Amino acid sequence: MRVMSCNAPTILLASLLAGPALAQMSQPILGENATKISDHVWAIMGWPNVAIIVGERATLIVDTGLGPLNGATVAKVAAKLSPNQKLFLTTTHFHPEHAGGEPGFPPNTILIRDAVQQKEMEAHGMEMIEMFSSRSTQNKELLANVKLRPPDVLFDSEAQVDLGGVRARLLWFGGAHTRGDELTLVEPDGTLVSGDVVQNKVVPNIYGDGGTPSSWLAVLDKIAALNVRHVLPDHSAPGDGSLVTAERAFIADVRTRALELKSKGVSAEEAAKQLNPEFRQKYADWPSMNLTAFVRSVYAEH
Ligand SMILES: [Zn+2]
Ligand SMILES: [Zn+2]
Repeated sequence: MRVMSCNAPTILLASLLAGPALAQMSQPILGENATKISDHVWAIMGWPNVAIIVGERATLIVDTGLGPLNGATVAKVAAKLSPNQKLFLTTTHFHPEHAGGEPGFPPNTILIRDAVQQKEMEAHGMEMIEMFSSRSTQNKELLANVKLRPPDVLFDSEAQVDLGGVRARLLWFGGAHTRGDELTLVEPDGTLVSGDVVQNKVVPNIYGDGGTPSSWLAVLDKIAALNVRHVLPDHSAPGDGSLVTAERAFIADVRTRALELKSKGVSAEEAAKQLNPEFRQKYADWPSMNLTAFVRSVYAEH
């Protein structure tokens, strides 16, 4: 696989760091406890939350943790939940805490991801690993010598994995947090592993040239049609299907208010300054509310 490198503008780093994920970034080591989300889905809750989907014959893991040490922990927890199973691995998006732990998995693990995500990985994967490595000695150690391997299976919009009594649908619905955001629907459970696309009281964040507010809304419309019962986000607490509606309503709300201000000639920076206190009051139970980056994304699109 050819990995290209290019320079990341500082603004990308700033927008990546925005949001509550920042608070958890000081602790990138995943634990070995698994929490049950639904009949066939377990999660290691951490940075990020990692899903382990257990069928009768095979296990599918969604996301790796930061670097091979965490990848090995995830594989170990999966082996405890389902010994001697065939192992599938997929990733919600190409960022290093989601995909950079792949080398820690057993070599016969079958790696699957959507083609758009793989393209982003080839263009920006190593650059992101270097960026994360530069943030702390611990990150640098965790990501040392990480080589990104090409997936065994690439898909365009959907791949289905039969785990034995459990069918998982791997879906690409379009760009949101990144262009290649992947969603995993565990069919018998009605459980969606939602990555950054559906979160629980977290301001959405479009990374670099990822999606747009409109493409994010279009993705959420497709998710709504799945009528999921459980949602496991990657950087916030799990919840029920109402998280999908809440995510859509929040994005639509920010977009509407930002466009109202834009039509009055208010700058993006000034609009965010006005909307932050307004939304802090309106969404009072959200742990943090900084709309600057997302308002910029709304302005950029219109
Ligand atoms: Zn990310
Ligand atoms: Zn993340």
